Amino acid sequence: MELSDYSKIHQMHHRKEKMMAHLHPSKGGCWFCHEDDENECLFFDSEFDTYVHKSCIRQELSKDPASGSYNPEAEIMKYLLEEDNG
Ligand SMILES: [Zn+2]
Repeated sequence: MELSDYSKIHQMHHRKEKMMAHLHPSKGGCWFCHEDDENECLFFDSEFDTYVHKSCIRQELSKDPASGSYNPEAEIMKYLLEEDNG
C-alpha cells in the first residue's frame, strides 16, 4: 500500500470520529471535567473510548506530573490537539 493511501485512510478515520462527537454529544461528558459544555465541542478519544474537551487536555498537560492531580491520560490524548496543526 502506498504511504499516501494510508494517510488518506487515516484522515478519513479521524473525520468520522469528529462527526460522531457532533452527533452524540449527550452520550457522555468530558473525561476530565465530566461536563458536556455546549459552548465547547467534545472530541471523541478512541484510546479510552470517551469524550474530551481539547481545553481540558491542555489544562492537564500544563499541570505538574509530580502533583497528585495530574492525569497521565492527557499524554495519550495529546494527539487530538496535534490534529489542529494538520
Ligand atoms: Zn472538559
